[in-house]
Amino acid sequence: MLNIVLFGPPGAGKGTQADFLIKNYNLIHLSTGDILRSEIKEGTTLGLEAKKLMNNGLLVPDDVVIGMIKSQLEKNPTSNGFIFDGFPRTQKQAKELDKLLNKKSTSISVMLSLKVDDQELIKRLLKRGIDSGRADDQNENIITNRINEYNIKTTPLKDYYRLQNKLHEINGIGSVSEIANKLNQIIDNL
Ligand code: AMP
Repeated sequence: MLNIVLFGPPGAGKGTQADFLIKNYNLIHLSTGDILRSEIKEGTTLGLEAKKLMNNGLLVPDDVVIGMIKSQLEKNPTSNGFIFDGFPRTQKQAKELDKLLNKKSTSISVMLSLKVDDQELIKRLLKRGIDSGRADDQNENIITNRINEYNIKTTPLKDYYRLQNKLHEINGIGSVSEIANKLNQIIDNL
């Protein structure tokens, strides 16, 4: 199985690159942000609880997102592999993901980490806010909170995967196809 952690701050281009990777390698895309937004749309209790945190740019509790990933892994027993997009975001999530994959006799193959500076992230997110209507992309304070959450709670995960020799860092500024080619090269050389 090919299991990819697609990593980077909000606005780094994870969703865009995931679209290419799922097609190229026949993988299942698991984005916790997308799952949470569909829970909000459906008006579930989980969605209502998560919405308050998301609209303040704060992470939702670990157990909530771990439960979501667990059920998606169970729903797809015969997949070629998974792209984890926006997950894990904390040490606890990374450890639980390892346990869940271990139960399936598999593991994370690689972490692809997209690097983009804060100024560029803010510019991209504000533009996406206009195009998509996403509430958490429309306000610079919320965007700053999300970047802060990333810097404090999520970036340490690079060390978690670096220690396992799984971390690859890629410049996330450039044309979409240029970046996609770089990601393909890394995967093909695994
Ligand atoms: P994203 O679409 O990945 O930018 O996620 C949007 C929002 O959903 C984040 O700002 C968090 O509030 C929440 N979220 C998504 N994934 C996670 C996660 N793995 N852990 C905690 N919160 C998450």
